[in-house]
Amino acid sequence: TLSPNDQTDIVAADRAHVWHHLTQHRAFDQADPAVFVEGHGLRLWDIEGREFLDAVSGGVWTVNVGYGRRSIADAVHEQLVKLNYFAASAGSIPGARFAEQLIARMPGMSRVYYSTSGSEANEKVFKMVRQISAQHHGGRKWKILFRERDYHGTTLGTLAACGQPQRSAAYGPFAPGFVEVPHCLEYRSQFPDAARYGEAAADAIEHVIEREGADTIGALCLEPITAGGGVIVPPQGYWQRVQEICRRHDILLHVDEVVCGLGRTGTWFGYQNFGIQPDFVTMAKGVASGYAAIACTVTTEAVFEKFRHADGGELGYFRDISTFGGCLAGPAAALENMRIIEDERLLDNAREMGVVLERELRGLMERHAVIGDVRGLGLFWGIELVADRETRCPLDEALVGRVVGLCRRQGVLIGMTNRSLPGFNNTLCLSPALVVSHAQILQIVRAIDVALSEIAA
Ligand code: PLP
Repeated sequence: TLSPNDQTDIVAADRAHVWHHLTQHRAFDQADPAVFVEGHGLRLWDIEGREFLDAVSGGVWTVNVGYGRRSIADAVHEQLVKLNYFAASAGSIPGARFAEQLIARMPGMSRVYYSTSGSEANEKVFKMVRQISAQHHGGRKWKILFRERDYHGTTLGTLAACGQPQRSAAYGPFAPGFVEVPHCLEYRSQFPDAARYGEAAADAIEHVIEREGADTIGALCLEPITAGGGVIVPPQGYWQRVQEICRRHDILLHVDEVVCGLGRTGTWFGYQNFGIQPDFVTMAKGVASGYAAIACTVTTEAVFEKFRHADGGELGYFRDISTFGGCLAGPAAALENMRIIEDERLLDNAREMGVVLERELRGLMERHAVIGDVRGLGLFWGIELVADRETRCPLDEALVGRVVGLCRRQGVLIGMTNRSLPGFNNTLCLSPALVVSHAQILQIVRAIDVALSEIAA
Protein backbone atom coordinates (compact mmCIF):
# COMPACT_ATOMS: atom_id res chain seq x y z
CA THR A 1 0.00 0.00 0.00
CA LEU A 2 1.18 3.49 -0.87
CA SER A 3 1.27 6.37 1.57
CA PRO A 4 -1.21 9.20 0.86
CA ASN A 5 1.73 11.35 -0.29
CA ASP A 6 2.91 8.73 -2.78
CA GLN A 7 -0.67 8.33 -4.03
CA THR A 8 -0.92 12.07 -4.61
CA ASP A 9 2.47 12.15 -6.36
CA ILE A 10 1.56 9.37 -8.76
CA VAL A 11 -1.80 10.85 -9.65
CA ALA A 12 -0.13 14.25 -10.13
CA ALA A 13 2.55 12.72 -12.41
CA ASP A 14 -0.13 10.94 -14.39
CA ARG A 15 -2.20 14.11 -14.74
CA ALA A 16 0.87 16.07 -15.81
CA HIS A 17 2.44 13.68 -18.30
CA VAL A 18 0.38 10.65 -19.34
CA TRP A 19 -1.83 10.81 -22.40
CA HIS A 20 -4.52 8.18 -21.79
CA HIS A 21 -5.78 5.94 -24.58
CA LEU A 22 -9.24 6.53 -26.03
CA THR A 23 -9.88 9.28 -23.49
CA GLN A 24 -11.19 12.83 -23.65
CA HIS A 25 -8.97 14.40 -21.00
CA ARG A 26 -11.59 17.02 -20.16
CA ALA A 27 -13.09 14.24 -18.01
CA PHE A 28 -10.16 14.74 -15.61
CA ASP A 29 -11.31 18.31 -14.90
CA GLN A 30 -14.02 16.67 -12.75
CA ALA A 31 -12.33 13.53 -11.40
CA ASP A 32 -8.92 11.94 -11.08
CA PRO A 33 -7.91 9.29 -13.61
CA ALA A 34 -8.28 5.70 -12.37
CA VAL A 35 -4.98 4.14 -11.35
CA PHE A 36 -5.12 0.39 -10.71
CA VAL A 37 -2.38 -1.20 -8.69
CA GLU A 38 -3.19 -4.84 -8.02
CA GLY A 39 -5.41 -7.68 -9.18
CA HIS A 40 -6.38 -11.21 -8.32
CA GLY A 41 -8.79 -13.29 -10.37
CA LEU A 42 -11.52 -10.79 -11.33
CA ARG A 43 -10.79 -8.54 -8.35
CA LEU A 44 -8.92 -5.32 -8.87
CA TRP A 45 -7.71 -2.62 -6.46
CA ASP A 46 -7.08 1.01 -7.28
CA ILE A 47 -4.46 3.31 -5.81
CA GLU A 48 -6.77 4.39 -3.00
CA GLY A 49 -7.44 0.79 -2.01
CA ARG A 50 -10.95 0.61 -3.48
CA GLU A 51 -11.90 -2.88 -4.67
CA PHE A 52 -13.62 -3.60 -7.99
CA LEU A 53 -15.01 -6.67 -9.72
CA ASP A 54 -13.80 -6.48 -13.31
CA ALA A 55 -16.47 -7.76 -15.72
CA VAL A 56 -14.52 -6.72 -18.83
CA SER A 57 -11.17 -8.49 -18.34
CA GLY A 58 -8.91 -5.47 -18.15
CA GLY A 59 -11.29 -3.02 -19.79
CA VAL A 60 -10.88 -4.44 -23.29
CA TRP A 61 -11.58 -8.22 -23.00
CA THR A 62 -7.95 -9.22 -22.56
CA VAL A 63 -7.17 -10.86 -19.21
CA ASN A 64 -8.81 -14.21 -20.00
CA VAL A 65 -7.17 -16.19 -17.19
CA GLY A 66 -7.62 -13.43 -14.60
CA TYR A 67 -5.17 -11.26 -12.66
CA GLY A 68 -2.35 -12.32 -10.38
CA ARG A 69 -1.10 -15.45 -12.16
CA ARG A 70 2.28 -16.07 -10.58
CA SER A 71 2.97 -19.08 -12.83
CA ILE A 72 2.84 -16.86 -15.92
CA ALA A 73 5.12 -14.30 -14.28
CA ASP A 74 7.51 -17.16 -13.36
CA ALA A 75 7.49 -18.55 -16.91
CA VAL A 76 8.28 -15.10 -18.30
CA HIS A 77 11.00 -14.55 -15.68
CA GLU A 78 12.66 -17.88 -16.47
CA GLN A 79 12.64 -17.17 -20.19
CA LEU A 80 13.98 -13.62 -19.80
CA VAL A 81 16.93 -14.58 -17.65
CA LYS A 82 17.79 -17.33 -20.16
CA LEU A 83 17.23 -15.40 -23.39
CA ASN A 84 15.07 -12.32 -23.80
CA TYR A 85 15.25 -11.73 -27.51
CA PHE A 86 16.38 -12.59 -30.95
CA ALA A 87 14.71 -11.41 -34.17
CA ALA A 88 11.99 -13.84 -35.29
CA SER A 89 13.88 -14.56 -38.51
CA ALA A 90 15.48 -17.14 -36.17
CA GLY A 91 13.58 -19.73 -34.17
CA SER A 92 13.17 -19.93 -30.39
CA ILE A 93 12.20 -22.60 -27.89
CA PRO A 94 8.98 -20.94 -26.63
CA GLY A 95 8.11 -19.73 -30.16
CA ALA A 96 8.33 -23.23 -31.60
CA ARG A 97 6.51 -24.85 -28.67
CA PHE A 98 3.68 -22.33 -28.62
CA ALA A 99 3.18 -22.52 -32.40
CA GLU A 100 2.92 -26.31 -32.12
CA GLN A 101 0.40 -26.10 -29.25
CA LEU A 102 -1.65 -23.48 -31.03
CA ILE A 103 -1.83 -25.31 -34.34
CA ALA A 104 -2.86 -28.49 -32.45
CA ARG A 105 -6.00 -26.58 -31.42
CA MET A 106 -6.72 -25.19 -34.89
CA PRO A 107 -7.35 -28.10 -37.30
CA GLY A 108 -6.60 -27.11 -40.88
CA MET A 109 -4.19 -24.32 -39.91
CA SER A 110 -0.46 -24.66 -40.18
CA ARG A 111 1.75 -21.56 -39.74
CA VAL A 112 2.12 -18.90 -37.06
CA TYR A 113 3.61 -15.43 -37.71
CA TYR A 114 4.45 -13.53 -34.51
CA SER A 115 3.96 -9.84 -33.82
CA THR A 116 2.79 -7.75 -30.87
CA SER A 117 -0.72 -6.34 -31.30
CA GLY A 118 -4.05 -7.14 -32.88
CA SER A 119 -3.68 -4.26 -35.32
CA GLU A 120 -0.31 -5.53 -36.40
CA ALA A 121 -1.52 -9.13 -36.79
CA ASN A 122 -4.30 -7.87 -39.07
CA GLU A 123 -1.92 -5.65 -41.05
CA LYS A 124 0.13 -8.78 -41.73
CA VAL A 125 -2.89 -10.42 -43.35
CA PHE A 126 -3.60 -7.36 -45.48
CA LYS A 127 0.02 -7.36 -46.65
CA MET A 128 -0.03 -11.11 -47.32
CA VAL A 129 -3.23 -10.72 -49.37
CA ARG A 130 -1.72 -7.84 -51.38
CA GLN A 131 1.45 -9.85 -51.98
CA ILE A 132 -0.51 -12.92 -53.10
CA SER A 133 -2.39 -10.67 -55.49
CA ALA A 134 0.85 -9.19 -56.82
CA GLN A 135 2.63 -12.51 -57.18
CA HIS A 136 -0.19 -14.83 -58.26
CA HIS A 137 -2.97 -12.70 -59.76
CA GLY A 138 -1.11 -10.00 -61.68
CA GLY A 139 -2.05 -7.46 -58.99
CA ARG A 140 -5.76 -7.74 -59.77
CA LYS A 141 -7.09 -9.44 -56.59
CA TRP A 142 -6.04 -6.61 -54.30
CA LYS A 143 -9.23 -5.45 -52.58
CA ILE A 144 -10.16 -6.40 -49.04
CA LEU A 145 -13.75 -6.53 -47.81
CA PHE A 146 -14.62 -5.64 -44.24
CA ARG A 147 -17.97 -5.40 -42.45
CA GLU A 148 -19.97 -2.48 -41.13
CA ARG A 149 -19.60 -2.29 -37.29
CA ASP A 150 -16.43 -4.46 -37.20
CA TYR A 151 -13.11 -3.13 -35.90
CA HIS A 152 -9.67 -4.46 -36.76
CA GLY A 153 -7.25 -2.02 -35.21
CA THR A 154 -5.93 1.43 -34.83
CA THR A 155 -3.22 1.76 -37.51
CA LEU A 156 -3.95 3.61 -40.73
CA GLY A 157 -4.10 0.27 -42.58
CA THR A 158 -6.59 -1.34 -40.23
CA LEU A 159 -8.62 1.88 -39.94
CA ALA A 160 -9.10 1.64 -43.70
CA ALA A 161 -10.98 -1.57 -42.83
CA CYS A 162 -12.98 -0.03 -39.99
CA GLY A 163 -16.75 -0.45 -39.89
CA GLN A 164 -17.10 2.01 -36.99
CA PRO A 165 -17.13 5.49 -38.53
CA GLN A 166 -16.56 7.46 -35.33
CA ARG A 167 -13.26 5.66 -34.82
CA SER A 168 -11.79 6.48 -38.21
CA ALA A 169 -13.44 9.83 -39.02
CA ALA A 170 -10.49 12.09 -38.20
CA TYR A 171 -7.72 10.06 -39.80
CA GLY A 172 -8.34 9.83 -43.52
CA PRO A 173 -7.63 9.71 -46.33
CA PHE A 174 -7.04 5.97 -46.15
CA ALA A 175 -5.44 3.41 -48.42
CA PRO A 176 -7.71 2.51 -51.34
CA GLY A 177 -9.11 -0.95 -51.96
CA PHE A 178 -10.99 -1.52 -48.70
CA VAL A 179 -14.71 -2.05 -49.28
CA GLU A 180 -17.48 -2.30 -46.68
CA VAL A 181 -20.21 -4.97 -46.57
CA PRO A 182 -23.39 -4.70 -44.44
CA HIS A 183 -23.53 -5.78 -40.78
CA CYS A 184 -25.54 -8.84 -39.69
CA LEU A 185 -27.24 -7.64 -36.50
CA GLU A 186 -30.68 -9.22 -36.64
CA TYR A 187 -32.12 -6.86 -34.01
CA ARG A 188 -31.45 -3.99 -36.42
CA SER A 189 -32.34 -5.97 -39.52
CA GLN A 190 -31.48 -4.47 -42.88
CA PHE A 191 -33.16 -7.31 -44.76
CA PRO A 192 -36.89 -7.96 -44.92
CA ASP A 193 -36.88 -11.78 -45.00
CA ALA A 194 -36.72 -12.56 -41.27
CA ALA A 195 -37.04 -16.33 -41.77
CA ARG A 196 -33.77 -16.59 -43.67
CA TYR A 197 -32.01 -13.60 -42.15
CA GLY A 198 -28.61 -15.28 -41.84
CA GLU A 199 -28.49 -16.28 -45.49
CA ALA A 200 -29.81 -12.90 -46.61
CA ALA A 201 -27.12 -11.09 -44.61
CA ALA A 202 -24.45 -13.32 -46.20
CA ASP A 203 -25.96 -12.82 -49.67
CA ALA A 204 -25.56 -9.07 -49.12
CA ILE A 205 -21.80 -9.71 -49.06
CA GLU A 206 -22.07 -11.51 -52.36
CA HIS A 207 -23.90 -8.53 -53.86
CA VAL A 208 -20.90 -6.35 -52.97
CA ILE A 209 -18.57 -8.96 -54.47
CA GLU A 210 -20.58 -8.94 -57.70
CA ARG A 211 -20.64 -5.14 -57.78
CA GLU A 212 -16.87 -4.85 -57.28
CA GLY A 213 -15.97 -7.91 -59.39
CA ALA A 214 -14.86 -11.11 -57.66
CA ASP A 215 -11.61 -11.10 -59.63
CA THR A 216 -10.64 -7.82 -57.88
CA ILE A 217 -11.15 -9.12 -54.32
CA GLY A 218 -8.44 -10.94 -52.39
CA ALA A 219 -9.97 -11.40 -48.95
CA LEU A 220 -12.96 -10.93 -46.69
CA CYS A 221 -12.07 -9.89 -43.15
CA LEU A 222 -14.67 -10.45 -40.38
CA GLU A 223 -14.86 -10.70 -36.62
CA PRO A 224 -16.40 -14.09 -35.66
CA ILE A 225 -18.65 -12.15 -33.30
CA THR A 226 -18.48 -8.37 -33.67
CA ALA A 227 -17.08 -7.06 -30.38
CA GLY A 228 -16.90 -3.29 -29.87
CA GLY A 229 -19.49 -2.75 -32.60
CA GLY A 230 -22.23 -4.12 -30.34
CA VAL A 231 -21.51 -7.80 -29.53
CA ILE A 232 -23.17 -9.18 -32.64
CA VAL A 233 -23.50 -12.96 -32.87
CA PRO A 234 -24.12 -13.75 -36.55
CA PRO A 235 -27.49 -15.36 -37.19
CA GLN A 236 -28.10 -19.01 -38.05
CA GLY A 237 -26.85 -19.94 -41.49
CA TYR A 238 -24.67 -16.84 -41.90
CA TRP A 239 -21.20 -18.26 -41.47
CA GLN A 240 -21.81 -21.35 -43.58
CA ARG A 241 -23.04 -19.19 -46.41
CA VAL A 242 -20.13 -16.75 -46.05
CA GLN A 243 -17.67 -19.62 -46.29
CA GLU A 244 -19.43 -20.99 -49.35
CA ILE A 245 -19.44 -17.56 -51.06
CA CYS A 246 -15.72 -17.05 -50.39
CA ARG A 247 -14.82 -20.47 -51.79
CA ARG A 248 -16.97 -19.96 -54.88
CA HIS A 249 -15.28 -16.63 -55.67
CA ASP A 250 -11.74 -17.67 -54.67
CA ILE A 251 -11.67 -15.07 -51.86
CA LEU A 252 -9.55 -15.78 -48.78
CA LEU A 253 -11.47 -15.74 -45.51
CA HIS A 254 -9.78 -13.86 -42.66
CA VAL A 255 -11.33 -14.22 -39.20
CA ASP A 256 -10.19 -11.62 -36.65
CA GLU A 257 -10.13 -13.50 -33.33
CA VAL A 258 -8.38 -10.70 -31.42
CA VAL A 259 -11.28 -10.65 -28.93
CA CYS A 260 -12.81 -14.15 -29.24
CA GLY A 261 -9.53 -16.10 -29.40
CA LEU A 262 -8.36 -18.23 -26.48
CA GLY A 263 -11.64 -19.22 -24.93
CA ARG A 264 -13.83 -16.13 -24.75
CA THR A 265 -16.87 -17.92 -26.26
CA GLY A 266 -16.27 -21.32 -24.65
CA THR A 267 -14.29 -22.76 -27.57
CA TRP A 268 -10.62 -22.09 -28.30
CA PHE A 269 -11.66 -19.77 -31.13
CA GLY A 270 -14.91 -18.04 -31.95
CA TYR A 271 -15.05 -19.40 -35.50
CA GLN A 272 -15.07 -22.94 -34.12
CA ASN A 273 -18.65 -22.37 -32.96
CA PHE A 274 -19.73 -22.07 -36.57
CA GLY A 275 -18.03 -25.03 -38.27
CA ILE A 276 -16.03 -23.00 -40.77
CA GLN A 277 -12.45 -23.24 -41.99
CA PRO A 278 -10.75 -19.83 -42.42
CA ASP A 279 -7.62 -19.11 -44.45
CA PHE A 280 -6.30 -16.57 -41.92
CA VAL A 281 -6.92 -16.26 -38.18
CA THR A 282 -5.49 -13.35 -36.19
CA MET A 283 -5.35 -13.16 -32.40
CA ALA A 284 -3.79 -10.99 -29.70
CA LYS A 285 -5.51 -9.98 -26.46
CA GLY A 286 -6.19 -13.34 -24.80
CA VAL A 287 -3.11 -15.07 -26.26
CA ALA A 288 -1.14 -14.19 -23.14
CA SER A 289 -3.98 -12.53 -21.21
CA GLY A 290 -2.05 -9.25 -21.07
CA TYR A 291 0.94 -10.75 -19.19
CA ALA A 292 3.08 -10.04 -22.26
CA ALA A 293 2.49 -8.42 -25.64
CA ILE A 294 2.05 -11.11 -28.28
CA ALA A 295 -0.07 -11.43 -31.40
CA CYS A 296 -0.30 -14.18 -34.00
CA THR A 297 -1.26 -14.28 -37.65
CA VAL A 298 -2.12 -17.90 -38.36
CA THR A 299 -2.63 -19.32 -41.82
CA THR A 300 -2.84 -22.54 -43.81
CA GLU A 301 -0.07 -24.44 -45.54
CA ALA A 302 -1.71 -23.57 -48.88
CA VAL A 303 -1.33 -19.82 -48.20
CA PHE A 304 2.19 -20.31 -46.82
CA GLU A 305 3.20 -22.22 -49.96
CA LYS A 306 2.25 -19.23 -52.11
CA PHE A 307 5.26 -17.42 -50.65
CA ARG A 308 7.66 -20.24 -51.49
CA HIS A 309 6.55 -20.53 -55.08
CA ALA A 310 5.77 -17.13 -56.50
CA ASP A 311 6.45 -14.91 -59.46
CA GLY A 312 8.70 -12.86 -57.19
CA GLY A 313 11.27 -15.68 -57.35
CA GLU A 314 13.92 -15.25 -54.66
CA LEU A 315 12.22 -12.08 -53.41
CA GLY A 316 8.82 -13.75 -53.24
CA TYR A 317 9.03 -14.36 -49.49
CA PHE A 318 6.95 -12.33 -47.05
CA ARG A 319 9.02 -9.16 -46.79
CA ASP A 320 7.88 -8.15 -43.35
CA ILE A 321 9.31 -8.02 -39.86
CA SER A 322 8.06 -7.05 -36.43
CA THR A 323 11.08 -6.30 -34.24
CA PHE A 324 9.31 -7.17 -31.02
CA GLY A 325 7.77 -10.26 -32.59
CA GLY A 326 11.07 -11.73 -31.43
CA CYS A 327 10.51 -10.90 -27.73
CA LEU A 328 10.44 -14.26 -26.03
CA ALA A 329 8.36 -13.11 -23.05
CA GLY A 330 5.37 -13.34 -25.41
CA PRO A 331 5.39 -17.03 -26.34
CA ALA A 332 6.63 -17.98 -22.85
CA ALA A 333 3.57 -16.26 -21.33
CA ALA A 334 1.29 -17.65 -24.04
CA LEU A 335 2.37 -21.24 -23.37
CA GLU A 336 1.58 -20.95 -19.67
CA ASN A 337 -1.66 -19.09 -20.42
CA MET A 338 -2.74 -21.96 -22.65
CA ARG A 339 -1.76 -24.56 -20.06
CA ILE A 340 -3.92 -22.77 -17.49
CA ILE A 341 -6.94 -22.66 -19.82
CA GLU A 342 -6.49 -26.37 -20.52
CA ASP A 343 -5.70 -27.66 -17.02
CA GLU A 344 -8.27 -25.52 -15.21
CA ARG A 345 -10.90 -26.47 -17.82
CA LEU A 346 -11.67 -22.82 -18.45
CA LEU A 347 -13.42 -23.48 -21.77
CA ASP A 348 -15.93 -25.61 -19.82
CA ASN A 349 -16.28 -22.87 -17.21
CA ALA A 350 -16.83 -20.26 -19.93
CA ARG A 351 -19.66 -22.33 -21.41
CA GLU A 352 -21.23 -23.21 -18.06
CA MET A 353 -21.01 -19.71 -16.60
CA GLY A 354 -22.14 -18.35 -19.97
CA VAL A 355 -25.41 -20.25 -19.54
CA VAL A 356 -25.86 -18.74 -16.06
CA LEU A 357 -25.03 -15.25 -17.34
CA GLU A 358 -27.49 -15.55 -20.22
CA ARG A 359 -30.28 -16.75 -17.90
CA GLU A 360 -29.66 -13.87 -15.50
CA LEU A 361 -29.55 -11.30 -18.30
CA ARG A 362 -32.82 -12.59 -19.78
CA GLY A 363 -34.33 -12.29 -16.30
CA LEU A 364 -33.10 -8.70 -16.17
CA MET A 365 -34.76 -8.05 -19.52
CA GLU A 366 -38.13 -9.03 -18.05
CA ARG A 367 -37.74 -6.44 -15.31
CA HIS A 368 -36.32 -3.56 -17.36
CA ALA A 369 -38.09 -2.24 -20.46
CA VAL A 370 -34.94 -0.30 -21.33
CA ILE A 371 -33.30 -3.56 -22.42
CA GLY A 372 -34.09 -4.09 -26.10
CA ASP A 373 -31.86 -7.04 -26.86
CA VAL A 374 -29.53 -9.42 -25.06
CA ARG A 375 -27.03 -11.34 -27.16
CA GLY A 376 -23.79 -13.26 -26.79
CA LEU A 377 -22.02 -16.56 -26.46
CA GLY A 378 -19.89 -18.06 -23.70
CA LEU A 379 -18.55 -15.23 -21.56
CA PHE A 380 -19.09 -12.53 -24.15
CA TRP A 381 -22.40 -10.63 -23.86
CA GLY A 382 -24.00 -7.41 -25.00
CA ILE A 383 -27.11 -5.70 -23.59
CA GLU A 384 -28.59 -3.23 -26.07
CA LEU A 385 -30.47 -0.40 -24.34
CA VAL A 386 -33.38 1.38 -26.01
CA ALA A 387 -35.52 4.43 -25.23
CA ASP A 388 -38.57 2.55 -26.55
CA ARG A 389 -38.94 -1.19 -27.09
CA GLU A 390 -41.53 -0.76 -29.86
CA THR A 391 -39.52 1.58 -32.07
CA ARG A 392 -36.14 0.22 -30.88
CA CYS A 393 -34.91 3.80 -30.71
CA PRO A 394 -31.43 3.60 -29.09
CA LEU A 395 -31.04 4.92 -25.55
CA ASP A 396 -29.07 8.15 -25.42
CA GLU A 397 -25.33 7.53 -25.14
CA ALA A 398 -25.04 9.73 -22.04
CA LEU A 399 -27.59 7.56 -20.21
CA VAL A 400 -25.79 4.37 -21.25
CA GLY A 401 -22.60 5.92 -19.88
CA ARG A 402 -24.48 6.66 -16.67
CA VAL A 403 -25.34 2.97 -16.29
CA VAL A 404 -21.63 2.14 -16.62
CA GLY A 405 -20.84 4.83 -14.00
CA LEU A 406 -23.51 3.56 -11.60
CA CYS A 407 -22.11 0.03 -11.83
CA ARG A 408 -18.66 1.38 -11.12
CA ARG A 409 -20.00 3.17 -8.06
CA GLN A 410 -21.12 -0.27 -6.83
CA GLY A 411 -17.62 -1.61 -7.49
CA VAL A 412 -18.38 -3.43 -10.75
CA LEU A 413 -16.56 -2.52 -13.99
CA ILE A 414 -18.59 -3.05 -17.16
CA GLY A 415 -18.08 -1.71 -20.71
CA MET A 416 -20.11 -0.14 -23.52
CA THR A 417 -19.88 0.49 -27.26
CA ASN A 418 -17.90 3.64 -26.77
CA ARG A 419 -18.11 6.51 -29.27
CA SER A 420 -17.69 4.31 -32.31
CA LEU A 421 -21.09 4.18 -34.04
CA PRO A 422 -23.09 7.35 -34.66
CA GLY A 423 -26.41 6.98 -32.83
CA PHE A 424 -25.74 3.42 -31.72
CA ASN A 425 -23.40 3.64 -28.74
CA ASN A 426 -26.09 1.97 -26.67
CA THR A 427 -24.83 -1.54 -25.89
CA LEU A 428 -23.41 -2.56 -22.51
CA CYS A 429 -20.62 -5.12 -22.80
CA LEU A 430 -19.66 -7.95 -20.47
CA SER A 431 -16.60 -10.14 -20.87
CA PRO A 432 -15.51 -11.43 -17.45
CA ALA A 433 -12.37 -13.54 -17.11
CA LEU A 434 -12.92 -17.22 -17.86
CA VAL A 435 -12.42 -18.04 -14.16
CA VAL A 436 -15.60 -16.15 -13.17
CA SER A 437 -17.71 -17.85 -10.48
CA HIS A 438 -21.48 -18.16 -10.17
CA ALA A 439 -21.47 -15.71 -7.24
CA GLN A 440 -19.48 -13.16 -9.24
CA ILE A 441 -21.92 -13.40 -12.14
CA LEU A 442 -24.77 -12.67 -9.73
CA GLN A 443 -22.84 -9.68 -8.36
CA ILE A 444 -22.29 -8.29 -11.88
CA VAL A 445 -25.95 -8.71 -12.86
CA ARG A 446 -27.16 -7.25 -9.55
CA ALA A 447 -25.08 -4.11 -10.14
CA ILE A 448 -26.62 -3.67 -13.60
CA ASP A 449 -30.08 -4.30 -12.13
CA VAL A 450 -29.60 -1.53 -9.55
CA ALA A 451 -28.13 0.85 -12.15
CA LEU A 452 -31.02 0.31 -14.56
CA SER A 453 -33.57 0.86 -11.76
CA GLU A 454 -31.83 4.10 -10.90
CA ILE A 455 -31.89 5.50 -14.43
CA ALA A 456 -35.54 4.43 -14.83
CA ALA A 457 -36.35 6.41 -11.68
N1 PLP B 1 -9.41 -6.58 -33.72
C1 PLP B 1 -10.42 -6.52 -32.84
C2 PLP B 1 -11.65 -7.33 -33.08
C3 PLP B 1 -10.31 -5.72 -31.71
O1 PLP B 1 -11.33 -5.61 -30.83
C4 PLP B 1 -9.11 -4.99 -31.50
C5 PLP B 1 -8.93 -4.13 -30.31
O2 PLP B 1 -9.84 -3.85 -29.56
C6 PLP B 1 -8.10 -5.07 -32.46
C7 PLP B 1 -8.27 -5.89 -33.55
C8 PLP B 1 -6.83 -4.29 -32.32
O3 PLP B 1 -6.00 -4.84 -31.38
P1 PLP B 1 -4.79 -3.99 -30.74
O4 PLP B 1 -5.40 -2.92 -29.91
O5 PLP B 1 -4.01 -5.02 -29.96
O6 PLP B 1 -4.00 -3.45 -31.87
